[in-house]
Amino acid sequence: MSVSALTAEQAANPLINPPKTKFNMPAWDKIKPEHFEPAIEWAIEKAYAQIEEIKAVSLGDANYENIIEAYEFTGQDIGRIVSVLSYYTNNAITDELVDIEVEQGAKLSEFSAKVGTDVDLYERIKKVAKSDAPMNDVQRRLTDKAFKGFEEGPLSLGAEDQKKYLELQNELSRKTAQFGKNIKNHMDPSHKYGLKVVVPKAEIATRLAGVSADALKPFTDEATGDVIIGALPESMDILEQCQNRETRKAIHTNWTGRGNIGALNNDALASDIHHLKQQQAQLFGYDTVVDATIRPDKRAAGTPDNVLNILHRIRDVAFRASKDIYDKILVEAAADGITTYDADADDAARLCPWDLAYYANIVNKKAGGIDPEEEKKYFDVPVVMEGLKRSMKRRFGLVLEETKDFKMPHEDMQVFYSKKPSGEVDGIFIVDLYQRTTKRGGAWMDQMRPAGMVDGEWQVPITLVNCNYGVDKKSQLISFDSVETLYHEFGHGAHGHFSQKTPYQSLNSINISWDAVELPSQFNEVFAGLRRHFNSYARHAETNAKMPKKLYDKLTETKPSLQLLRQNEFGMLDLELYSNPNKISSMTAFNKAAFDRTQLIANKTDNVMVNQFSHIISGGYSSGYYSYVYADFMVSAMEDLFEKHGQKAVNAFKREFVSIGCLKTASEAFDNIYRALGEPVQPLSPDGYLRKNGYGKYLDAADAEGTSGPNVPFSFDFKRP
Ligand SMILES: [Zn+2]
Repeated sequence: MSVSALTAEQAANPLINPPKTKFNMPAWDKIKPEHFEPAIEWAIEKAYAQIEEIKAVSLGDANYENIIEAYEFTGQDIGRIVSVLSYYTNNAITDELVDIEVEQGAKLSEFSAKVGTDVDLYERIKKVAKSDAPMNDVQRRLTDKAFKGFEEGPLSLGAEDQKKYLELQNELSRKTAQFGKNIKNHMDPSHKYGLKVVVPKAEIATRLAGVSADALKPFTDEATGDVIIGALPESMDILEQCQNRETRKAIHTNWTGRGNIGALNNDALASDIHHLKQQQAQLFGYDTVVDATIRPDKRAAGTPDNVLNILHRIRDVAFRASKDIYDKILVEAAADGITTYDADADDAARLCPWDLAYYANIVNKKAGGIDPEEEKKYFDVPVVMEGLKRSMKRRFGLVLEETKDFKMPHEDMQVFYSKKPSGEVDGIFIVDLYQRTTKRGGAWMDQMRPAGMVDGEWQVPITLVNCNYGVDKKSQLISFDSVETLYHEFGHGAHGHFSQKTPYQSLNSINISWDAVELPSQFNEVFAGLRRHFNSYARHAETNAKMPKKLYDKLTETKPSLQLLRQNEFGMLDLELYSNPNKISSMTAFNKAAFDRTQLIANKTDNVMVNQFSHIISGGYSSGYYSYVYADFMVSAMEDLFEKHGQKAVNAFKREFVSIGCLKTASEAFDNIYRALGEPVQPLSPDGYLRKNGYGKYLDAADAEGTSGPNVPFSFDFKRP
């Protein structure tokens, strides 16, 4: 290795010279913010030196080991250090660490750009990829992956286009960061345009009439008694209960104002980002981002036409189902003078977006819906966690044993060893279940360290599972939805953990096509609701009684919901946007026109989704939002197999899909589940999912009218049915 020996300062840095720990767990108690910058600089320098060594191999001597494998093992320290940094910027956030991440991120992009345009390196990889030296499947896969990375990167462009690509990339980084920052600032109540609906104590009785004391409590300022309402999912209880329409409107408008208000308006930025992405796609010879992204080798759904046909089908069904739901809501709203959802009517007389939760709640209650407080009594986090462990063992053979071997950065974090029947540890799960002010919201899984060889030593995988359960840990009661979230994240966790078939971290990874990545997680949710297993953990916190059958049935029943229409609106907006090759002068107008065709309840304010839609604008989901519904179809198909073959189907799923990492494409792996069970491989259609979830009569109606389906040409300019 041509890297010079460590300086005294480097040797003292626990990220550069990690103290020996069990299974090479990061030395959490020794890592400090100031260690990151020098560590990342050192790791980048080391990676450059490794690349120089690869380039020193003459073209004639190039082979799999000295080029492809050597390249795979390049920069492993970068991955290791960045995963620790990203732990801190998600689970223990401080401004200092966020700034470090932004600064170091710029250096890392520069590094990737340099490597990705290194002609000498590319020549050697190409030489091996094109040679007829024998390779096994794993070697072939790794070689193709490395080669494709270059072939589809900027290097395949001429010198001029390459320069243009990198310029566009710089612009994109800058503008997407600003896009995210504007949304973040809107969430900050101290910002001029930040989120804040303040209801002074004296006005609570009128402006928050109908809202329970329990729902208000988390939003009440202890000193003044005023109620301060911010982000919407968290304050949904208030929106559901509030009788005052003006307050509902204020809460809703405040939340949907993200990226839409004053100096934080993202319209121009979103338009620029869209245009930059289209220009990049065009440099590579594609007409649009959609064409560049939805391809058989990159997405399980295969082609844009497939995706459009699917969304068209869903829209047909979701529209009809949603109309039925809105009609029921209107019956309740009529008492308040709201009699229509016609977008042309006055706001006073029409159902508006801020009314939905409130009246839906009334409909739900009248239909004998579940009382959320009653529901929560059955799901106590520690008991739920024990149930989850039993399910993971039964379904996937994943045996989790808690360990106190590690000093973790926060006392909430539990660590589990996964053990083989021999007792040998083959993976580590870190589980971080509770809310903290320094932790990002939501639930997620992080493949902190994929399994594989590092510096000649096998590393067991480290999988980090996160939820955001209640702050008050004395009562750890959660909804069934939150129980399913835990199963969801452990489904991703199993995917990350079992992907350990090869020596290579990049193949033992869950970076499969996006439209299939939610399959293991959503399929694992199914097991949470299986009656026998459910009874083993869903016990009343005070009486230990099982949940009454009536309540269980209600909790687990599948019926049409407004969510399907919403997912369809978002999926359509994404595809319409990224199949438009032109610069869009007003995103707000574009979004309004798109939603006009896909929504039933119009939002006539100027607050539009696209200006806050991080997934598709600043995130990686451009022309990929459909993935959420697509995964549902895959899960539905897996459920059918499970119903027919029982545990055998789960075994096949584990063997052919969950354990396969990136060794095969997701659609090959998925088809292999069918083959393993002796079932014919079939193209995935939304109809099975829709029928299973109570949309059968709407499908029949759509078929009778012939408005969707394989022979009906798709157009964005359709009119509402
Ligand atoms: Zn997920």
